[in-house]
Amino acid sequence: LGPDRATEIRALIRDVPGYPHDPIVFRDITPLLADGAALRDVVEAFARLCEGDDGHAIDIVAGMEARGFLLGAPLATRLGVGFVPLRKAGKLPPPVERVDYDLEYGSAAIELRTGTLPQGARVLLVDDVLATGGTAAAAAELVERCDGKVVATAFLLELDGLGGRERLSGRVVETLLRVD
Ligand code: AMP
Repeated sequence: LGPDRATEIRALIRDVPGYPHDPIVFRDITPLLADGAALRDVVEAFARLCEGDDGHAIDIVAGMEARGFLLGAPLATRLGVGFVPLRKAGKLPPPVERVDYDLEYGSAAIELRTGTLPQGARVLLVDDVLATGGTAAAAAELVERCDGKVVATAFLLELDGLGGRERLSGRVVETLLRVD
């Protein structure tokens, strides 16, 4: 995204202070998803990370439930590769691999169906927002437990100052937009 287009696309992400509770400012990407040109440009910007001599060579896209599905699946289609959903616990029929992780308040788990990833698959992890990085770190662990290799992680929006990048240190972290 060029700087002007980045500003326009940022304006399509609605900030909702206090949702779901203080002090969270929820970043709602619904207006962006509803704008065809913006959605296309975001998917295209993600795709460019995976193309060319210095792009990440990947075999498959993995997206975190649920907004990672909305960005990851069109990206996979654009790149001509498959898509793997990393689901919240209890949604997939067995057999599954599971990784539990801590949230700011409470805990969560994500699951991936055993055998979905080809052995050694080069995976791009996609989600809408990078906050503390806990979800993405768990997702990367899950992919690797299922014999995939996380080549890079990619996010539409990085929330600075929450430690997400540090939490993912040692991994490639790509973000299209950043906010304080
Ligand atoms: P984290 O694990 O803290 O990096 O949180 C990332 C996950 O929670 C992503 O799946 C996001 O969709 C969601 N998330 C965290 N913080 C926000 C926020 N302020 N606005 C919207 N989604 C968020």
